[in-house]
Amino acid sequence: MRYHRPESFEDAVAIAAGSGGTTRFLAGGTDVLVQLRAGLVTPDDLIDLKHIPGVAEIVRTADGGWRIGIAVTGAQMGRHADLVRDWPGVVEGMQLVGSTQVQGRATPVGNLCNGSPAADSVPGLVAAGARVDILGPGGPRSLAVEEVPTGPGRTTLRPGEIITAITLPPRGAQAGDAYLRFTPRTEMDIAVVGVAVNLRLDGERIAAARIALGAVAPTVLLADAAAAAIIGTPLDDAALTALATAATAAANPISDKRGTADFRKEITGVLVRRAARIAYDRVQARTGIQQGEDK
Ligand SMILES: Cc1cc2nc3c(=O)[nH]c(=O)nc-3n(C[C@H](O)[C@H](O)[C@H](O)COP(=O)(O)OP(=O)(O)OC[C@H]3O[C@@H](n4cnc5c(N)ncnc54)[C@H](O)[C@@H]3O)c2cc1C
Repeated sequence: MRYHRPESFEDAVAIAAGSGGTTRFLAGGTDVLVQLRAGLVTPDDLIDLKHIPGVAEIVRTADGGWRIGIAVTGAQMGRHADLVRDWPGVVEGMQLVGSTQVQGRATPVGNLCNGSPAADSVPGLVAAGARVDILGPGGPRSLAVEEVPTGPGRTTLRPGEIITAITLPPRGAQAGDAYLRFTPRTEMDIAVVGVAVNLRLDGERIAAARIALGAVAPTVLLADAAAAAIIGTPLDDAALTALATAATAAANPISDKRGTADFRKEITGVLVRRAARIAYDRVQARTGIQQGEDK
């Protein structure tokens, strides 16, 4: 195995494109190194991306959104007060990954590219409308986060392509998000179901919504019908019931030792109601703070 430490994305792409064998990128290594030690993968080329300038930075973009570098860890995201204020659901998804030790290494890009249907940071990113910037032998391109995974362990990234950053759109006024997961244990466990809700309000009514479901299909699902069930409503009981029904119908889980398909569908309905309520309450709390600051 050859270990590489490029200092630019262009160099990293050139190494990956010229590999001819099995390639892995090293961000936090909390998936790759575990797979390596277990003998699940033996890369011919292991390309460490952490020494490329700027990859560990979280930067406000010109449009008021965020650019998250590919070596930014869950711990860093949790310490970034402005990011947490804008996107609490995105951050809490990443912060559920592993333990304190894992948090110090694990990145959302690694979580996405590992391709697990239960990846905890991915539903929040999908609900947020996050995108990834990509560089490859064919040049740069950009994809919505939901376009990256295609199934367990598989992505749409082409040979030699590297994600160079995650971008989050501007938060805007009257908006909030939330992520909840169910695990049999309180931590260090994989989501049996994960649900992210991102809302924008106009007064008391929901003007826009994006809802993403994790661990209930081969990839994270963007549940448009569930979002439609609450748009135009003040998230009253009828809307919450319609939301749960639509999300449950969208879920297409498997049965395994962690839970039956029926159990996963039921939990999807429970979590989506709770996550929507939290996101809605966050909008109101955030709006209250902004009004207070304006005085
Ligand atoms: C003890 C433990 C507990 C865990 N708990 C959870 C959990 O609760 N929830 C959860 O979702 N996950 C969990 N994980 C899995 C893992 O920590 C996460 O998936 C983590 O976010 C992976 O990020 P990383 O930076 O360590 O990725 P790495 O291991 O560095 O890379 C993962 C994959 O992404 C690819 N990759 C990395 N960077 C790029 C890039 N820029 N462009 C293209 N491809 C890239 C690599 O080639 C590799 O295939 C756990 C792992 C451990 C060891």
